[in-house]
This record gives sequence, structure tokens and C-alpha cells, in this order.
Amino acid sequence: MLKCPNCKSKDIGKIGVNQYYCWGCFIELSISKGQINTHQVEEDGTLSSLDDLFAEEDRSISM
Ligand SMILES: [Zn+2]
Repeated sequence: MLKCPNCKSKDIGKIGVNQYYCWGCFIELSISKGQINTHQVEEDGTLSSLDDLFAEEDRSISM
């Protein structure tokens, strides 16, 4: 089960192939190679990475 590494919410919506959106804290999540990559959508529509904020184990997913 996918869980947001930022707010631990499980209220995750799918927005594309391997792309998800957290309704808890409004960040975008994408999955690659068993890792969750986190992005914040800026007001101008660009994405900035939040990966530096999380430990490696917080970003790995166990299926
Ligand atoms: Zn969240």
C-alpha cells in the first residue's frame, strides 16, 4: 500500500502511469525502481523535488 512519505497519508490518487497525488499534503509522487520520488507543484506549474527531505527508507516502497 502506497503511503505518502511526507504526511503518511494513504489518501493517494493515481494521476498517471506510476504517478500519484497526495490529497493529504498536495504533493505529487512518482514511482521508479521501488522508490518514491516526491515533487511539489509550484504556483507557476513547475515541479520541484522534495526528495532531499526524506530518508532513503521512507521513500522505498514495500509491495
Ligand atoms: Zn502527503
